[in-house]
Amino acid sequence: MEDRAIKEISLLIENIHILTIDHEYGEFESGFIAVDGKDIIDIGSMEDLGCRYRAEKILNGHGKLALPGLINTHTHSAMSLFRGYADDMPLWDWLTKRIWPLEDRLESEDIYYLSMLSMAEMIQSGTTTFSDMYMFMDETAKAAQKVGMRAMLARGLQGYDKLSDIRLKESRELYEAWHGGADGRIKVMIGPHAIYTCCEDFLNQCMDLARELNLPIHMHISETKKEVLDCLEKHGRTPIKYLDDIGLFEIRTLAAHCVHLNEEDIQILGQRDVRVAHCPSSNLKLASGFMPAAKLIRNGIDISLGTDGASSNNNLSIIKEMNLAAIMGKAVAEDASAVSARDVINMATINGARALFMGDEIGSLEPGKRADIILIDLDKPHFKPKNDIDSLLVYSGQGQDVDTVIVDGKILMEARQLSTIDLDRLYIEIDRIKKRVMGVS
Ligand SMILES: [Zn+2]
Repeated sequence: MEDRAIKEISLLIENIHILTIDHEYGEFESGFIAVDGKDIIDIGSMEDLGCRYRAEKILNGHGKLALPGLINTHTHSAMSLFRGYADDMPLWDWLTKRIWPLEDRLESEDIYYLSMLSMAEMIQSGTTTFSDMYMFMDETAKAAQKVGMRAMLARGLQGYDKLSDIRLKESRELYEAWHGGADGRIKVMIGPHAIYTCCEDFLNQCMDLARELNLPIHMHISETKKEVLDCLEKHGRTPIKYLDDIGLFEIRTLAAHCVHLNEEDIQILGQRDVRVAHCPSSNLKLASGFMPAAKLIRNGIDISLGTDGASSNNNLSIIKEMNLAAIMGKAVAEDASAVSARDVINMATINGARALFMGDEIGSLEPGKRADIILIDLDKPHFKPKNDIDSLLVYSGQGQDVDTVIVDGKILMEARQLSTIDLDRLYIEIDRIKKRVMGVS
């Protein structure tokens, strides 16, 4: 007689269309996902489910699509304060005349609430992990801990100026306080801002710290034509070549933007296995240019997706970036078959995980990986008829289609109701901060 024990688990999602984004790109038209604690323990077709599990919580996924949680590899979450504040300006004027003067007025506690506002928006559009570079990062860490998101955090670094050493010290403190914190959901990177805000000596100090703490680097690279032209004039090389020559890419690196690249730059990115955060909305809105995504894909470079801050997008929806990455990538390549729907789904999931050096933990739905799962409601006019699921997601999908969000096996949103953020209270705090920093109600 067969004695097959029923296993007690924490969560079972059943009757759901699943895209696993694993190596085989598994798809179940009607499947189940079994979650116990923080991990996915089983996944398969409903006909193979039987009575193996008794779950504390069951989600019926009928009419929905399960995907790995989306990954936003480049943002500045506390810049939500500047959403709609200084639009329609060139990057340099925008930074120097409008953003930087106001940033000086920000206090640490503001960052907690401003980051949380971005987290609310990210969860509501299906993001489970984000990579942030800004100041007062311990406040963003506290907010991520409270909210339940997964985060890769870097203290933004500029130098030399009178605060450079303090910022480096804060990077070390962030590592000591938060690397592996919030039950392993928070990790830390070293974040030299860009070559135009960091001199070579200072970059070397950032690299020393990254080596000492064995942390990756997160940096804006080749975002604008001005950055490249200034670098050519000052160093006689492109930013990518310059950074390679000083040894930066010997350290694991996430490069944000990578818009202006020559053939040699692309070769270097490939050889050094640099991970790229592509931010199409920000590049278009700030008129930075068009990243040659198809060329990078052809050269085997892992492109992931970032929203950049809410001040230069002005949303934090990776589904919006998926759409733009595909349609802009085609136009730039002058080839409608380039940058396919499947390519950008990979960018938003498994490539995002690799970009944050978390490919073993997240980015696909597989037993043994963390249970970071989103459910998308397909019961919408713009998803009918259900011809091709990749196409629907990328060319028709919107952030508001995300119904349920799970991180580390914990439900952060169900039926679009956030479970860890009190939005009404948060909006009061945001109004208070806006009034103090901008002097208007
Ligand atoms: Zn940025």
